[in-house]
Amino acid sequence: MKIILSLYLVFAVILTQFFAAYFFSKGRTSYRKAFAGVVLCMSFYLFGYLMIINTNNLQEMIFWNQIQYFALPFVPVLWLIVALLYTKTIYSLSTRLLILLFAVPVITVLVRLTNIWHHFFYINWGIREYFCYYSLYLERGLWYYINISYTILCLISTIVIYFIGYLRKNKGYTRSHFLVFLFASILPLIGIGLILFSYEEYSIDYAALLMPISLLIITYGILRYDFLEIRGLARETIFENNLTGLVVLGPGRLVVDYNKAAEKFFETINITLNNYPIDRILEHEPKLLEIFESEEDNDYSCVIDGEERYFEIDTMQLGDNPREASIRMLKSIRDVTEERIIQGKLKFLATTDSLSGLYNRAEFMELAQREFALAKINNEELSILMLDLDKFKNINDNYGHATGDEVIRVFGHMIKTSFRKTDIAGRIGGEEFAVILKNASLEEAKKVAEIFRESVARRKVIYGEQEISFTVSIGVASFSENSDKIKNIEDILKMADNALYRAKAEGRNRVVAFGVQVE
Ligand code: GH3
Ligand code: MG
Ligand code: MG
Repeated sequence: MKIILSLYLVFAVILTQFFAAYFFSKGRTSYRKAFAGVVLCMSFYLFGYLMIINTNNLQEMIFWNQIQYFALPFVPVLWLIVALLYTKTIYSLSTRLLILLFAVPVITVLVRLTNIWHHFFYINWGIREYFCYYSLYLERGLWYYINISYTILCLISTIVIYFIGYLRKNKGYTRSHFLVFLFASILPLIGIGLILFSYEEYSIDYAALLMPISLLIITYGILRYDFLEIRGLARETIFENNLTGLVVLGPGRLVVDYNKAAEKFFETINITLNNYPIDRILEHEPKLLEIFESEEDNDYSCVIDGEERYFEIDTMQLGDNPREASIRMLKSIRDVTEERIIQGKLKFLATTDSLSGLYNRAEFMELAQREFALAKINNEELSILMLDLDKFKNINDNYGHATGDEVIRVFGHMIKTSFRKTDIAGRIGGEEFAVILKNASLEEAKKVAEIFRESVARRKVIYGEQEISFTVSIGVASFSENSDKIKNIEDILKMADNALYRAKAEGRNRVVAFGVQVE
């Protein structure tokens, strides 16, 4: 009997050592690491039991029993953690949960080690002979029963968790493995029952005998359904290594999970992510909190290391149930700063005339149309200046094309600095320009144009050795809401053009107005 039991235990210890190493090396998912922990604890425990039945010395037996208690109390709680993680009842372990779960096992280890002083765990012990071999006889104390109750509680919780997991999954192939795990968790419970009621008689540790069988069943389950895990692993890897920050929010806006990129994003703004409700994590960042609580896609910008950075924070609802959609969300955080910079550069290149620095014709026309529509809706005044450099051909002819370019550059700069920021100026032809003056009457526009014409006439452009003077002719037109002559922006531009034509005809370097009210 003793030999059979010993051989069985030797085999079980080797098996558990092997599986502990195997699952630890393959333990990329958190539940596998926890499972490796269970198996290692079992191995310790079984080895202790093997040593106890192979000695006749009470001191040695007590010593090995103590060694067993370094591992035994942790088996059921780790078993429960595997169930919680495997069924995805929880996604990660918070410190609070760990303290809660491990409190009893840790106290058990301490109580067992100090038993000699208080006898809370074992009231009495001795050696007895059973079936031709000697084993420990132990009289149980108060804490023994507390620990065994906790063990039973853990195992029953584990069974319930697998059972709920089994009921919740509606596809056949993903649920049968929960039954394998459920069955494997019932066995140790039976073992404990036998220990409680018939240990006195035979002193056989039934739990120890059943443990390797449970282990084999679970190992079968994990390996048999490994393809599920590979799929899960692939998804987990994509989630974890995604360059986009991902945060999963659950009921109560609790941060259920997040990836490395999300952690990094929050680190740069000095916030530590953890499994707390988001309103607690972001209590000092009201703008960001509003975004994380909203169910919409949002833009966010902030200064990081003295540089303005832009983020797109989008929302994806998790689950098909619309009622759940608002409480389960995946928030993605994408840094779009580089994109925005390139977009800005492209937009600048597409809308700006490089020589004068003003809007190009296409952009000017679009903005002019928009301003015209707004002025019409809001019943506001709007004036337009058409400007054409006088005898520009002569400048090219006399000083060269490059000098002509320099004059256009200087003239563009003058326009930019002479009008209000809200006015819109564009280069609409070779040496033709236009300016829209918002909220300006014809009289006001004429005045502004006259001042500008004078400043141009005074301006001298120095290019190389040369000093060039030049003049501009300006046609002014104004839009009045009452006028039904003006249907669109082209009409008013035509009027300004007419006025400009007259300015040229009247001798250049002058301002002529075409007021719809006047003409
Ligand atoms: P007017 O007073 O009647 O406007 O006389 P003008 O010589 O300015 O009129 P015209 O329209 O005949 O000539 C415009 C000239 O402007 C012709 C063209 O060579 C020159 N021009 C147009 N675009 C550019 C440019 O980008 N750079 C240079 N240097 N010259 C340009
Ligand atoms: Mg000209
Ligand atoms: Mg011209």
